[in-house]
Amino acid sequence: MSEPRPSESRPNESRPSESRPGEPTSEPQLSEAELSGAGRTRVAVLGSTGSIGVSTLDVLARHPQRFAVQALSARRNIQRLLEQCLQHRPALAAVETSADAAWLAEQLQHHGAATQVLSGDAGLCSIAAHRDVDAVMAAIVGAAGLPCTLAAARAGKRIMLANKEALVMSGPLFMQTVREGHATLLPVDSEHNAIFQCSAGEHPTGVRRILLTASGGPFLRTPRSQLAAVTPEQACAHPRWVMGRKISVDSATLMNKGLELIEACLLFAVPPAQVDVVVHPQSIVHSLVEYCDGSMLAQLGNPDMRVPIAHALGWPRRIGSGVESLDIVKVGRLDFEAPDLQQFPCLSLARQAAEVGGTAPTILNAANEVAVEAFLQRRLGFLEIPLVIEEVLSKFPAGRLTCLQDVLAADAGARQVAQVAVASAAGVGA
Ligand code: NDP
Repeated sequence: MSEPRPSESRPNESRPSESRPGEPTSEPQLSEAELSGAGRTRVAVLGSTGSIGVSTLDVLARHPQRFAVQALSARRNIQRLLEQCLQHRPALAAVETSADAAWLAEQLQHHGAATQVLSGDAGLCSIAAHRDVDAVMAAIVGAAGLPCTLAAARAGKRIMLANKEALVMSGPLFMQTVREGHATLLPVDSEHNAIFQCSAGEHPTGVRRILLTASGGPFLRTPRSQLAAVTPEQACAHPRWVMGRKISVDSATLMNKGLELIEACLLFAVPPAQVDVVVHPQSIVHSLVEYCDGSMLAQLGNPDMRVPIAHALGWPRRIGSGVESLDIVKVGRLDFEAPDLQQFPCLSLARQAAEVGGTAPTILNAANEVAVEAFLQRRLGFLEIPLVIEEVLSKFPAGRLTCLQDVLAADAGARQVAQVAVASAAGVGA
């Protein structure tokens, strides 16, 4: 294994600086409120009605002296957003359509809540960059989360990143925006949060390898012959984690681990060859970092996203998450095995895209989003997901990624090719 490149853009390293590797910055980016000690950190939860959003609100509600819920957002689940607004009383909320915004505003007014309701991408971006927001939980699923997460980065916010697709599709541009905006980037994905914790105080040149753990998903032991017929319900029944439907399918195909491999390369400035994936069905070890002296550091905990969420919210301090202590005696044993790349080709496709670089990860992500959506809508079989992605990667050549236009063009173009591939795989012709 070659010596790793020095870290250029590690999580929460807001500028190329003298900061010690593994530590976000030598000078933590604290909110004005925290620095003055005068008030609470004002948090925007983008995607508050989803799995990560709900867990984030749970942690925030445990620390009312420390955090204020400043803004919330949803797409379709407006009823749940209304309930969240009435409970947390944010100053701002955002929804997709102006019709939903009008309905929500009327309901809130009726209940005496003063929340201002915005709509569309512009509304989301305005919340993410708002002067009264200190920290942004980026928990929208898929490429839809890119514009508002970039807006938060440009505005120098503390970004708690769950929305891995935004990072994967825009890669170096995302990291550059974080640096130039003097934002603070904290990983919420449990694996990357674990790596971040295992890197604290370490020099990046000492890193030999990053090991991402994978639960293996619901089909770890399912014979390949049965995979053709699995349903969205089976794919979404994850054995360890309760998650949104898209990431659940990604977890079942192992594309989630592929996206995480790309995410790890970007966050920790390591080449793909330095990132390995190991299947760990118990989901107790959330990832490991191996150092050149042979030491291997791991982060363990119950599989509950409130742990990495609380870590990102509280960093550089620790705050309670509401998650019960891990009983390692009860767990008893920890198993590790190599992933079956024949059974789960998405992992190899993602690794190849990471190695090609440029817009290859953008194309991979777009093709995957289209294929997963088609699978969830029963227009595509489970085993056809990797076939569609492979076809798109072969038909849509990767190019350079130097600006947002490159990202958007590759994303749109790959989606078009993927729709055609889905239609032809589903036997309805292009
Ligand atoms: P969910 O599907 O549960 O929630 C997604 C959220 O985003 C919802 O609030 C949804 O609103 C909103 N949303 C969806 N589409 C749009 C859109 N086009 N515009 C604006 N808002 C939108 O997803 P998860 O919470 O599971 O995942 C969120 C992100 O976090 C994903 O990127 C995922 O990969 C990542 N992640 C999730 C983990 C988990 O345990 N769930 C673990 C690690 C990472 P509405 O409800 O109204 O549709």
